[in-house]
Amino acid sequence: MSFTLHGSGVGGGIAIGQVHLISSARLEVAHYAVAPEQLELEVMRFSTAVDKVRAELQGLRRNVPASAPAELGAFLSLHLMILDDATLSQAPRDLIRSLRCNAEWALVQQMDYLVAQFDKIEDPYLRERKADVVQVVERTLKAMQEQPGRASPAPAHEASLIVVAHDLSPADMMLFKQHQYAGFVTDLGGVTSHTAILARSLDIPAIVGAHTARQMVREGELVIVDGVHGVLIVDPDRMVLEQYKLRQRQIELGRQKLKRIRATPTTTRDGTAVDLHANIELPQDIEQVRESGATGVGLFRSEFLFLNRDDLPGEDEQFEAYRQVAQAMRGLPVTIRTLDLGADKALNGSARGGPNPAMGLRAIRLCLAEPQMFLTQLRAILRASHYGKIRLLIPMLAHAHEIEQALNMIAQAKQFLHEQNEPFDPGIEIGGMIEVPAAALSLGVFVRKLDFLSIGTNDLIQYTLAIDRTDDSVSHLYNPLHPAVLQLIANTIKTGSRMKVPVAVCGEMAGDVALTRLLLGFGLRQFSMHPANLLTIKQQVLKSDLGELAKLSARILRADDPEIARRLLEKLNA
Ligand code: PEP
Ligand code: MG
Repeated sequence: MSFTLHGSGVGGGIAIGQVHLISSARLEVAHYAVAPEQLELEVMRFSTAVDKVRAELQGLRRNVPASAPAELGAFLSLHLMILDDATLSQAPRDLIRSLRCNAEWALVQQMDYLVAQFDKIEDPYLRERKADVVQVVERTLKAMQEQPGRASPAPAHEASLIVVAHDLSPADMMLFKQHQYAGFVTDLGGVTSHTAILARSLDIPAIVGAHTARQMVREGELVIVDGVHGVLIVDPDRMVLEQYKLRQRQIELGRQKLKRIRATPTTTRDGTAVDLHANIELPQDIEQVRESGATGVGLFRSEFLFLNRDDLPGEDEQFEAYRQVAQAMRGLPVTIRTLDLGADKALNGSARGGPNPAMGLRAIRLCLAEPQMFLTQLRAILRASHYGKIRLLIPMLAHAHEIEQALNMIAQAKQFLHEQNEPFDPGIEIGGMIEVPAAALSLGVFVRKLDFLSIGTNDLIQYTLAIDRTDDSVSHLYNPLHPAVLQLIANTIKTGSRMKVPVAVCGEMAGDVALTRLLLGFGLRQFSMHPANLLTIKQQVLKSDLGELAKLSARILRADDPEIARRLLEKLNA
């Protein structure tokens, strides 16, 4: 019988195939007593499994392909850290001895204890990390089950299989990429979980948070994964199946066709040029940027160079990373955002910016509180500016004095390099992110003091609507079409244009094709997004006529109900 399950769609496209259930090892753990003289052997069995998982994770980390998303290495390091923490690698050994039980049982007891501790944490990001602990435990359990005498079945016809699991770790995701499964579905995982973030950047049709999928579907059953809408159709009838097959072919054809416009200049039908830039996290992302045909890097999230390591990258290491990107872009603009650490991006071992980290010591606030760290980065960026067209972008500015202080620090860094006879671009452009409502409502000082602005819609929405962007329980309220959000964006674009200060959008809205025309209608001429979205956005720009957009965009801006705005937006995109 056909039925449908709903979750959050996190990967592009549609996959059709047979279910391959990945059993949650945790649910299948037996409990038995171990004789006192066998206890040390049992401890050894546990140690062997931990060693095996460590070697597996290290191997995966060593072999992360250059094309893999930057986050993958970080996730693998996190899992290695969890594995080697005494609470996971030592405590079960003690439990085996004290409870005289089998290793699997001891490990699951310890996992349950740790999960209960995580549940008490108020911070949603940290609470979500309990999923990483569970994934590491499940991997270790699997390793124990695979010890001699326990075979793990290797699935055939992978390309037609849809993996359905209770939860999947990022490391599993990496294996799936190598294995070419058609898609995957998990019961757990919010849209901001590590697995979801990875799935989105890997572009695999996927659904997370499908709650009961693992229980409801059977091995070998035919399913459709609609990764766009987050819909899982189990045992579809013939008509539905044909419809989705057609849709799938259309999507694939569309993708192939899109590649043809890679080198086409991005102009609207009436001849207005539009800049499409790319967002990156690490220098190795630049290959994908070049393939996408982007005409610049609109956002280099430099803080990713600082994550998942125990030391801070020094000036020379940073300089090399920035220079590499600048040179690879061969004179095209590279916008390096200064450190946006804090909130969900904390340094190893540091506190997470107070009780409400998104509103705490984050981004420019943290940099001004840590001048040596900031100056080191500024010198590295300035030195790299000699090797290409680098622009500096300051995140999370809200106050005039923050702009002043940041500019003073940049002047100080320039002075230092000048005295050292180090070459740098003296005319380097300095921009500010508009991602706090206070900034969008006091643009005068921003346009007077800065060379360009970039709207960070992810945070602008978070702070305007008072929604923690990492908290899945309020994600339904995260609406880019809220009139307050649209007013702030449109006004920033208009003010920039009036004052001749270029304005870009570099948040997720820039890569959402449903919003391209609206932003063009507001006057936006610079978009920066994940490279995977770039050609879709380019196609939309090429098909758009600015003259036809003005009226409806203005109406959408006047709408005081997001639902009305949404209906008008459909008309705009028709
Ligand atoms: C934003 O806030 O929109 C943005 C681009 O920055 P980040 O997503 O890194 O906070
Ligand atoms: Mg931001």
